[in-house]
Amino acid sequence: MTTIADNLQAVRAAINAATASAGRTAGDVSLLAVSKTFPDSAVRCACQAGQQRFAENYLQEALQKIAALQDLPIEWHFIGPIQSNKTRDIAANFSWVHSVDRLKIAERLAAQRPVHLPLLQVCLQVNISREDSKSGVLPEQVRELAKAILLLPNLQLRGLMAVPAPANDVSVQRAAFAQLRALYEQLKTEGMPLDTLSMGMSHDFISAIQEGATIVRIGSAIFGERSYP
Ligand SMILES: *Cc1c(COP(=O)(O)O)cnc(C)c1O
Repeated sequence: MTTIADNLQAVRAAINAATASAGRTAGDVSLLAVSKTFPDSAVRCACQAGQQRFAENYLQEALQKIAALQDLPIEWHFIGPIQSNKTRDIAANFSWVHSVDRLKIAERLAAQRPVHLPLLQVCLQVNISREDSKSGVLPEQVRELAKAILLLPNLQLRGLMAVPAPANDVSVQRAAFAQLRALYEQLKTEGMPLDTLSMGMSHDFISAIQEGATIVRIGSAIFGERSYP
């Protein structure tokens, strides 16, 4: 499994190059390795190559991996759609959740976060391209949701996340990320203590870094192409 280590090294180099060319400080962009559909062994391999932050989309798959990899110093992030009946397990097993898009889910996570754990780190997923099919709160509803979440116990609101409509054209990619960034800057100007812009995947992370991403979520560029069952 040397390819995972090689891929990781190449992705890290690309992140560093993009960070520098955007005039940003080295280390400003954190790599989140998206391991959905890949086996425990792939995560173990990436972890041995120095990667500690991993993300999963599907709860049952994630819980199995988290249990199997307990011996490793991994920080787990949840990035998939959240149904109400999944919040208890998410609150108990993850350090971060990037895909909160309604107050009811945030309230359940707050109530169910075990008190012996650190605050659950939360990003709001924004439907930045306004796609009917997509999860995420609409841009004009982000402020109200963020204000309500800031009042909840056991959660720490860190910032915004988005999965824009796929685009090959770099200027189209950048325009969507710029919109998310503008929303984020606006909330910060209004006094919200945010520090995280979770945006950019394997095909568009360079554009995301140019527009201010602080976390990029990368799967296939590290682990290879996914085949869904
Ligand atoms: C799968 C997924 C990713 C990673 O996608 P790649 O194209 O494999 O890098 C990032 N974010 C979310 C929300 C995902 O579902």
